[in-house]
Amino acid sequence: MIPFNIPSVVGNEFTNISKLIESKKFCGDGEFTNKCNKWMEKEFDTMKALLTTSCTHALEMAAILAQISKDDEVIMPSYTFVSSANAFVLRGAKIKFVDIRPDTMNINERLIEEAITPRTKAIVPVHYAGVSCEMDMIMEVAKRNNLIIIEDAAQGVMSTYKGKALGTIGHLGCYSFHETKNYHCGEGGALLVNELEYIERSEIIREKGTDRSKFLRGQVDKYTWVDVGSSYLPSELNAAYLYAQFEKANEVNQNRLKSWRQYYEILTPLSREGFINLPFIPEHCEHNAHMFYIKTKNIHERTNLIDYLRKNNVIATFHYVPLHSSIAGNEYGVFQGNDEFTTKESERLLRLPFFYDLHSDQIELICNLIFKYYGRDR
Ligand SMILES: *Cc1c(COP(=O)(O)O)cnc(C)c1O
Repeated sequence: MIPFNIPSVVGNEFTNISKLIESKKFCGDGEFTNKCNKWMEKEFDTMKALLTTSCTHALEMAAILAQISKDDEVIMPSYTFVSSANAFVLRGAKIKFVDIRPDTMNINERLIEEAITPRTKAIVPVHYAGVSCEMDMIMEVAKRNNLIIIEDAAQGVMSTYKGKALGTIGHLGCYSFHETKNYHCGEGGALLVNELEYIERSEIIREKGTDRSKFLRGQVDKYTWVDVGSSYLPSELNAAYLYAQFEKANEVNQNRLKSWRQYYEILTPLSREGFINLPFIPEHCEHNAHMFYIKTKNIHERTNLIDYLRKNNVIATFHYVPLHSSIAGNEYGVFQGNDEFTTKESERLLRLPFFYDLHSDQIELICNLIFKYYGRDR
């Protein structure tokens, strides 16, 4: 059986956790959390990286920092995970869903401007499959309309757009370290703060609304309640595991890219002959091989292919059901303009097994099955 995902163990996870147990310092913001934060700041070139309990929580922090309040509007694609929207709905915002581009499955940057109203506060570009949205144009639209950009870069750790790390281009960026992502600690995330004005408040919100971070640095002699906040910092146990993954980040990235390229190469003839579509990577984007997907003719063909692969012990799966067609999405959001591609393309998309150390003969086997399904010899 080839599963869809195997959460990775890549190096010193066990050693780090043993060290931590010996140190008996388990709560948040200890040595390993600091190491993770510093590593991200250096690797991705951002002012401040703060480990959080999840990407969902990093998005919630971003919504508080952006001072989203009742009846504000936030623009994002409908083809995304619920957390992208929930974080803002929790603050009373209304979501404006914008159609995607069929080639990258990312928000169509050309349709954003017409969704802007006097109530619009923020835009949330979601970098699907770790492939960047068209950030130049999105940043320009935001600047012209005085909007905050919060990147949902949950899938984009180690990806770049014109040489800049995803998550560091907008005002705020959010990463996920959930076990289904490229680097993980079971459940985890990070908030990247790319503007000076948000730094102090981001530390306060993360520490239950107190200035404890300042206290730990010796900048104040006691700490106190200064703002709203919650507990968004993870245990050192999670940070110890995650730091081991960061230490091997380049190796993991290369390994994943190799698998991605192998899938792409083998399946190219099927795409040339019009049976399936393959992912598209814009020239100025470097991606992180977060997933490998193909697109079938329609939803029926996708269902049949999933069944066929499953009968042959290969677990492939579809992805998001567009948020605007969900119960809550309907209540808290509205689709702007025509749904030309969101529903249609989401119904065609099929994700193949993808994880660190996926073997090349497993990829061969999966691709052979897909050729066979379409009645084609390799
Ligand atoms: C995984 C994911 C999230 C949520 O991440 P968690 O760390 O599980 O909270 C949010 N947005 C996108 C696009 C994701 O893929």
